[in-house]
Amino acid sequence: MQSQKKHPQNLSFEFFPPKTAPGLAKLIQTNKQLLQLNPSYVSVTFGAGGALQENTAATVAQLKETCDIDVIPHISCAAMTSQRMTELLDYYHNHGIKQLVVLRGDATDASSDFAFANDLVAYIRQTTGDYFHIKVAAYPESHPQAENLNKDLAYFKRKITAGANAAITQYFYNPDAYFHYIDACEQHGIDIPIVPGIMPITNYQRLISISKRCSAEIPRWLCQKLLGFGEDTVAMQKFGIEVITKLCEKLLAAGAPGLHFYSLNKIEPSMEICRNLGF
Ligand code: FAD
Repeated sequence: MQSQKKHPQNLSFEFFPPKTAPGLAKLIQTNKQLLQLNPSYVSVTFGAGGALQENTAATVAQLKETCDIDVIPHISCAAMTSQRMTELLDYYHNHGIKQLVVLRGDATDASSDFAFANDLVAYIRQTTGDYFHIKVAAYPESHPQAENLNKDLAYFKRKITAGANAAITQYFYNPDAYFHYIDACEQHGIDIPIVPGIMPITNYQRLISISKRCSAEIPRWLCQKLLGFGEDTVAMQKFGIEVITKLCEKLLAAGAPGLHFYSLNKIEPSMEICRNLGF
């Protein structure tokens, strides 16, 4: 793997939008504590439709008022009309938001004016020019619906041709998956920064259920080791921090252009892992 453009402090945290006012107040506090690590930005995920999507816009606006760093909304094709998308882009523009994470989202029954993430990237470029810096998703282990990695890469490239500036990966626990992916991207002429997505290990059952949903592989040795901790969550979390710290060290040493933490709205263990890494 050739070294990607390095930015030693390119650290970011992903949140999901809380559904209640106390949840939002707690997230603002969590964000304030994570700011000690000097992240480049925090991002807020987008729901499948209706109130879940409104929560993202409200959370982004509130976080933006309480911190000086970029707050980046995720947006997706799910249940999205072009008119609604234009309203959302205007809203973010008016709130000083300059970056977006643009996704297809997972299929819903509601109709959408956009089939794939590349269609949405193209629409944003067509209607707002270069105003937004656009990040998209990348899948080192291949997207679960892709026929094979080559086809997935060809579709990934379409998002870049449509105007994406950078990518964040699905999480993985096998660094070779990322290294091979970066090599393959280079062979396909893809040269945008591709930041690894990092999922800390906090709860075995939750990890299994999230990983099933997004088809992220948990290596057998890791799965078996985690199972062995049984009810001893403290020892399991300590081990999880060690494993993820080593994974991040390997990625950064090989030239990964940053780290994006799926924080699950928690301070720990992301904070401890980042401190271990010297952030
Ligand atoms: P796409 O890039 O559109 O690809 C989807 C699938 O279609 C792939 O298999 C691809 O190979 C194929 N494909 C792509 N383009 C075409 C085409 N033109 N013709 C035919 N096939 C094509 N989901 C949410 O709902 N909300 C979020 O906030 C959210 N945040 C995420 C953040 C990150 C960093 C990541 C990695 C994922 C996130 N997801 C989120 C999940 C994501 O929405 C799903 O993984 C979804 O299934 C694919 O989204 P995508 O943008 O990668 O889709």
